[in-house]
Amino acid sequence: MNNIPIITNIRKIIFENFNDIDLRFNNDQIFEILKQNEMVDPSVTIDNMEVYFKELCDTEILRNIAQNFTTQWFKLFEPIEKIQCGSCKKESYLISSESRTCQNSSCGSTL
Ligand SMILES: [Zn+2]
Repeated sequence: MNNIPIITNIRKIIFENFNDIDLRFNNDQIFEILKQNEMVDPSVTIDNMEVYFKELCDTEILRNIAQNFTTQWFKLFEPIEKIQCGSCKKESYLISSESRTCQNSSCGSTL
């Protein structure tokens, strides 16, 4: 396990797989990619993920467009940008309205 927060990995997965405002994608698809790439602990369930998707909706990165039992469908409001931090070299995945601050919590440099 790496120590990248799950929320950062979700942003990365969206950037790499679904970074198109016309695409629909869902929480199950993202969770599968997280598991395949061992970005989450095997004990984590889809229910544990709900808080992260809620946070991404609250940040207005994701728009919840439909729900079918535990499957939540999303669209992006705008494409996500990948910005590499000049200080720690880690990548942040941000939308235009977010502050340009490195998302590596032990860094926090201005991007
Ligand atoms: Zn940094």
